[in-house]
Amino acid sequence: MFTRSDDFDNLWVWNDPQIRHRTAWYREVAANRMPARYLIASRVAVDVDPASEETELWSAFDRATQTFLALQERIKSGQVRLADLPRLQPNLRGLAVELGRRMLTHCNFCRWNCRVDRSTKGKRGTCGLGAASRVGSYFQHRGEELIFRGTHGSGTIFFTSCNMRCAFCQNGDISTDKHNGMKVTPAKLASIARELRLGGCHNINWVGGDPTIHLHTILAAIDLLDDETAGTDPSRIRRVEHGFGLFDDSKAAAYHQGEFNVPLLWNSNMFTTLETMKLLRVLIDVWLPDFKFGPGKCAVAAARTPWYWETVTGNLALLRDWGEDAGIRHLIMPNHVDCCTEPVLDWLAENWPDVPINIMDQYRPDTHTHPSSPTYQPRYAPLSRRPRADEIQQAYSLARERGLPFETITFERPSEMKHPF
Ligand code: SF4
Repeated sequence: MFTRSDDFDNLWVWNDPQIRHRTAWYREVAANRMPARYLIASRVAVDVDPASEETELWSAFDRATQTFLALQERIKSGQVRLADLPRLQPNLRGLAVELGRRMLTHCNFCRWNCRVDRSTKGKRGTCGLGAASRVGSYFQHRGEELIFRGTHGSGTIFFTSCNMRCAFCQNGDISTDKHNGMKVTPAKLASIARELRLGGCHNINWVGGDPTIHLHTILAAIDLLDDETAGTDPSRIRRVEHGFGLFDDSKAAAYHQGEFNVPLLWNSNMFTTLETMKLLRVLIDVWLPDFKFGPGKCAVAAARTPWYWETVTGNLALLRDWGEDAGIRHLIMPNHVDCCTEPVLDWLAENWPDVPINIMDQYRPDTHTHPSSPTYQPRYAPLSRRPRADEIQQAYSLARERGLPFETITFERPSEMKHPF
């Protein structure tokens, strides 16, 4: 019989020093040696009345974040055990939920900063969403990076709609259709996440579309993850079959010191606000940012997204400064190596040279760029093919010339694997 944490711990990929260093916290939580941040946040008291003005809530949140970070360090170093710390009320996790609710009423979840009240019927912002969240699908994803799919898959939850408009979206069925899938309450979402973890997954992978636009629902679900009474709505939830062979299905595989435990992974375009970043910082264990477009006009031309470069690089710099666990994804786009791949790699070399990068070659024309799509738009013809071999090789050469740590993650698939360790 396999045990999930043993298998996960024995992955060859951990022998890469940069991956080991940059995802150390995530690995400890995935193996249940450390508690996820959402459990630590429930042990941090907040000195504010939840009914206070939003500015007061933010001040209290910022103060409590410092307490949280100090507590995480003490837990990490073994000075204190989670089990010895009482749950406190009101706590930092609950305050994040309340702030998410407040933000929904003048939505500033993402950089569009639409300022519409999504909690009522009426005007909508760029994402077109109200208060409801929908999930297109969820499953044990076997296609993610090895550090995330591990031996039993990444517990991936796909939300509908998006705050960007990439003409070639590789998930266009859900990102362009906000009505896709199933409506989820926080309790249902928490049930889905528990099902995935108990079904073998190494993490909960919040993705879309983009998860940012569902922030209020996700925060509320995270607050219920360890509440198996109030936080449960199993209706229409299907069993997740792991399909990876035998494994230890005992509670030990998903619990830390008696509490439901799973690392949370934020898989996002990072087109988000400082407020959202701050809320996620105390709950997310590992980040998987997408960094696609260069500083020119490509984000507007191909994704109808202004302020892309300054927003995404600003948020990546925050993650670096905060010392977060992370891996970056960069998708090689046809005809965009000089204008996008090169400046993206330049920025990473200059600003975050030790973060692992997956330089992805799997781009395929989709959504509005596939000539046989009913929504094809001829102006996207330059994006209507796969990247050529010379473009892919050029991207790898650019990364190599800059000494970036990309080869382990990029070439880890069996057909290309070199097993350098
Ligand atoms: S999530 Fe972003 S796009 Fe949607 S309403 Fe809020 S600010 Fe606008």
